Amino acid sequence: LVRFTGVQKTYDGLSLVVRSLDLEIQRGEFLSLLGPSGSGKTTTLMMLAGFESPTAGDILLDGAPITRTPPHKRNFGMVFQNYALFPHLSVGDNVAYPLTVRKVPKAEIATRVAKALSMVQLDGKADRFPGQLSGGQQQRVALARALVFEPQLVLMDEPLGALDKQLREHMQIELKELHRQLGVTFVYVTHDQGEALTMSDRVAVFNDGEIQQIDRVDRLYETPSNRFVAGFVGDST
Ligand code: ATP
Repeated sequence: LVRFTGVQKTYDGLSLVVRSLDLEIQRGEFLSLLGPSGSGKTTTLMMLAGFESPTAGDILLDGAPITRTPPHKRNFGMVFQNYALFPHLSVGDNVAYPLTVRKVPKAEIATRVAKALSMVQLDGKADRFPGQLSGGQQQRVALARALVFEPQLVLMDEPLGALDKQLREHMQIELKELHRQLGVTFVYVTHDQGEALTMSDRVAVFNDGEIQQIDRVDRLYETPSNRFVAGFVGDST
């Protein structure tokens, strides 16, 4: 679905925060970008989203370069910790927003918003305001908003970071189930080994601006490619 070829990124012209990235994202997979703080995961996701442009290299979507395509033309769903809901809009209007800006007819918006809210088990909450919901419910509204226009790719950066442990674990199960039902591609940034290993089909382990290994969860455990991967993945147990 997506291919990074020789992608590099520097913010200051001196140090590379992403060194030389070759990455293939397969259609329909749940891929996690896992690694310690500062290893380049968020920068990689931002380049995929289009909010940052690579210093070198290319990003291809179905074989066509999107390296210079602006974010809103990439049509990806996004759930970021700092990509908050609009507090002055109702839940329904928040979820409707991506459809409103795409000028979808009103009647269709109503049907699709109801379907998206039902998908995240928030039926009947359309008239509430974000401030009246719990953290987990707000995160589900953000998810409904990311899914409502049926994107082929959903990008998430630590979307459960602000939730307490119990809610986080509950949402991990829900996210995984939603991924299974929808069959869309999820790319998920986290520094939490347990989270990545529980939810993903494949995990890309980042360190120091490079992918150390990208593999299925069982293979990361059984055949880590170096000491860093063995240590980092092993930390979750
Ligand atoms: P975290 O989980 O802490 O967000 P990360 O693996 O996602 O870490 P990045 O956020 O991609 O890592 O950051 C990689 C490096 O790039 C860090 O050293 C960071 O300080 C630097 N960096 C990130 N964004 C910017 C920016 N906008 N301007 C300058 N430097 C930046």
